Amino acid sequence: METLQPLPSYSISDLEEVLVTEAQISRRVDELAKEITSHYAPNDITIVCVLSGALVFTADLIRKLDIPTRLDCIRADSYGATTEATRPPRITNPLKTDIKDRHVLVIDDILDTGNTIFAIVNHLQNASPASLKSCVLLDKKERRQIEIEADFTGFEIPDAFVVGYGLDFAEHYRNLKCIGSLKRQFQSIPDTR
Ligand code: 5GP
Ligand code: MG
Repeated sequence: METLQPLPSYSISDLEEVLVTEAQISRRVDELAKEITSHYAPNDITIVCVLSGALVFTADLIRKLDIPTRLDCIRADSYGATTEATRPPRITNPLKTDIKDRHVLVIDDILDTGNTIFAIVNHLQNASPASLKSCVLLDKKERRQIEIEADFTGFEIPDAFVVGYGLDFAEHYRNLKCIGSLKRQFQSIPDTR
């Protein structure tokens, strides 16, 4: 007899476990904004948001910064609709602004193997910023392949594939207010909507 696969609802009920709640995110974003502000003040800062995963985090964080802030975006593609990176990340959308002699802070959603941040930092370093630091919302330390740490980190999380608050699976779940591990049965399902 054929067993029916449940369809994803693309809501919180597709999560195995909530790892970071909306309230925890909000408190930590406040703290990070204070740390970043006091590190850079009185200088101004150029934020480089790594699309699309860091979009939600960046939007919340920059509104809490108390220093003059410029914003640019970059895109590095490593996954398609899978949960594992299959090749080194490629920078697919370069910056629009000149970051020469600017204090640059790269913001990404998650530091996993380290390949993405490594590729982006190398790429941006070529443009001669005055300083270059990184901020990630999540850190999966266990999975690191490259020795690299972020300068500002939101939360350390265990090795699980997570979605929500900007993080996706096949472009879904970015709108969830919390972060949680995605049930295994929804990590490979073809996109039907
Ligand atoms: P790294 O290059 O450090 O292995 O991975 C960083 C990128 O992979 C992140 O910017 C993110 O887009 C993606 N990534 C890594 N782990 C996860 C995860 O658990 N969930 C989601 N949605 N994306 C992840
Ligand atoms: Mg990403």
